[in-house]
Amino acid sequence: MNFEDNFVSEIEITPQEEELFTSLRAGSWDAFFGQSDLKRSLQIGISAAKGRKESLDHTLFYGPPGLGKTTLSHLIAKELGVNIKITSGTALSKAGDLAAILTNLQPGDILFVDEIHRLPKVVEETLYPAMEDYALDIVIGKGPSARTIRLDLPQFTLIGATTRYGLLTGPFRDRFGIIHRLQFYKPDALATIIQAAAKKLNVEIDLDSALEIGRRSRGTPRIALKLLKRVRDYIQVHNIASISSQNVSDALNMFAIDKLGLDESDRRFLKQIILNHKGGPVGLSTIAATLNEDTLTIEEVLEPYLIQTGLLKRTPKGRVVSKKAYKHLGEKFTDI
Ligand code: ADP
Repeated sequence: MNFEDNFVSEIEITPQEEELFTSLRAGSWDAFFGQSDLKRSLQIGISAAKGRKESLDHTLFYGPPGLGKTTLSHLIAKELGVNIKITSGTALSKAGDLAAILTNLQPGDILFVDEIHRLPKVVEETLYPAMEDYALDIVIGKGPSARTIRLDLPQFTLIGATTRYGLLTGPFRDRFGIIHRLQFYKPDALATIIQAAAKKLNVEIDLDSALEIGRRSRGTPRIALKLLKRVRDYIQVHNIASISSQNVSDALNMFAIDKLGLDESDRRFLKQIILNHKGGPVGLSTIAATLNEDTLTIEEVLEPYLIQTGLLKRTPKGRVVSKKAYKHLGEKFTDI
């Protein structure tokens, strides 16, 4: 299996899995576990907006994929009793695409833009007056006879989600009244998510097994659900009635997911730096070239968890693998 196949299989999800996750999506605040500070502060913002009978401030969620940004946006819409229109930074390629969506919103509605850092500049700039004044400036005609007309919009809330906060321009960030970073989840929070999902799927799982999956899920609910599905498939094929820690270990070892939740691509990435670059520092583009992977994917998807677990460091001179990573991979660490 090459790096890319493995990478995609762990991080990306198939349409069937997407459907399954949608069916497992938390439908109430109580079913959205963890992130308690964020939940509390969002709920205050929502109550205040409801009290004033105004739309919620524009909101930005950032953090690695699969931590619950989309789910939170649905919960906010539900609590406010408004519609939510879902789109993404790559789907809105022209200012006209945005105009078509905005002019069809009802007062108070939410426009959710996933991967908002990928919005083209011209669309981003069209958004500025829409966010600030609920107005769209549309240019009619071309050349010297071109003129701009201003179109009023209903009051709406833009919710942006991004894995790359640093790529948003200052003026864009400043236009969001609420900005939250989603944190990786602890294994016990993931175990709660896994147990709730297992219940919905009619699968029996004890706390130890849920924790074992939680520990191997890179702090990410989406991966926890994906691993639960794999373990469920495994016990079904082996005719086992309920999930035990041993089944979890067997199933996940079979898929080459180790005790820290690293898969083949994570290990290959770290080993590459250890074996070919003496543990670093090495520039991102150099590693990306050897692994035949794009730098963005490495930065957005692969590295955040490796950094969080203390296996990798980003330094001004490049990436450096930690002593912990050497130990985890069974490689000899030599301090020079
Ligand atoms: P993101 O938008 O950040 O990529 P999603 O909102 O799509 O993440 O979440 C991925 C999956 O994980 C969904 O099925 C969602 O229901 C589940 N999930 C995420 N966060 C939580 C949570 N805190 N509690 C319960 N389930 C969660």
